[in-house]
Amino acid sequence: MTMTTERVRTAEPLKLVDRCDRCGAQAFVRVEFGLTLDLLFCGHHFRRHESALLTHHPEIIVRDERDRINHRPSVSANAE
Ligand SMILES: [Zn+2]
Repeated sequence: MTMTTERVRTAEPLKLVDRCDRCGAQAFVRVEFGLTLDLLFCGHHFRRHESALLTHHPEIIVRDERDRINHRPSVSANAE
């Protein structure tokens, strides 16, 4: 294992401590703007901003991990 900073530019999975930049919920989507800026979104806020992001920033890289949302228990899993 090598020592790296926390924000390595790889497909590192989102962690429990990664939070939506809009509401502070657990983040499941990472949107990468080039080398310096990431935005994190919960499923709800990514869905809300997805079309605008992709329209205005076609260069972004989206790492969508929403398929993991229901893979483990969550205190907010009953919101539906
Ligand atoms: Zn959110």
